[in-house]
Amino acid sequence: MNKKAVIIGNGKSINDHIERGDFDLLQHADNVETFAMNQIHRIYDRVSWRPDNWFMMESENWKRAWKDAVKYHFCEESNEQPYIAITHREVVQYYFDTAVAPKYLCRCQHFITNNEVWHLPVVCRYGGTISIALQTAYQLGFREVAVIGCDLGIKAGGGDHFDEDYVTVLEPRETFEMKNEILINAHTNARQYLNIFNCGIGGELEVHPRMELEEFINV
Ligand SMILES: [Zn+2]
Repeated sequence: MNKKAVIIGNGKSINDHIERGDFDLLQHADNVETFAMNQIHRIYDRVSWRPDNWFMMESENWKRAWKDAVKYHFCEESNEQPYIAITHREVVQYYFDTAVAPKYLCRCQHFITNNEVWHLPVVCRYGGTISIALQTAYQLGFREVAVIGCDLGIKAGGGDHFDEDYVTVLEPRETFEMKNEILINAHTNARQYLNIFNCGIGGELEVHPRMELEEFINV
């Protein structure tokens, strides 16, 4: 695999990446495949870049946002490969009957328990959608990976995403403190399989070595 993967979270720093022109850089980099997730379509009126792969996970929290997600990521005109990690396909089938079929990823039930290792081909849901994107990149053969927009430092009161109206919704039994810890653990777990660099601007994720995005793409 000569190509590299850039995995794009939805943190506030995405605004800085847009301003710096990083999405133009990603759009024109032939050696890079991009992986984005959840409500990334909220930046589509600001950039002409679109991800090669897009991920969401079936969850109660997502029901309200699914219609928009379908509109942007499952339409005939989209060139993206949509993936959806689920436990019960029938729950989401309704939304996708008339849209481009997503790839369904069978996922486990790990949520609070850190399994510490992956158990592919069933994707581990521990760490949420970012973890599922990392595992899929691995399964597609990628080994050199950059993450951007994985800011962490998620707290009550919002302001964690690139869009003020885009707020973090906790799962039942989850706290903000737990969410940060789970994400840090999931990034740490992924390091057993992938060579990962944090090419983000700022943020509180320090388990990967830092590198400038332009350097990651060009070296
Ligand atoms: Zn698992």
